[in-house]
Amino acid sequence: MPILGEERSSELEAAVTTIRATCHTCGEVELTPDDIELRVCTHASASYYRFECPLCRTEVQKPADDRVVQLLISGGVTATVWELPDEVQEERAGPPLTMDDLLDFHLLLGRHDWFDSLLRVHSAT
Ligand SMILES: [Zn+2]
Repeated sequence: MPILGEERSSELEAAVTTIRATCHTCGEVELTPDDIELRVCTHASASYYRFECPLCRTEVQKPADDRVVQLLISGGVTATVWELPDEVQEERAGPPLTMDDLLDFHLLLGRHDWFDSLLRVHSAT
């Protein structure tokens, strides 16, 4: 859970929001709103925020629940909305692909009539 703070820069006399977040390696680090990328998904559980650790330069990505999203936005972080691709919501039928299926498909793609072959298989089911 990130923590908001506020620091005054002596030169600019402007309040700068600092956000403390945790790097897996370095522990608590201080960031500014511009350091954080907040991606809010229409499917709430897929929302996340990420930043580059200012100490070790590692990319850190963490899930953002509603509370975290609210907190980061109130701290001045810009949120970008993204949607899960429709395929994620599709119902799936039939057995999962096997390595043999993949190899067959690879061989099929080498044939000039591969698309027609797929159409024939699809319309037969
Ligand atoms: Zn780090």
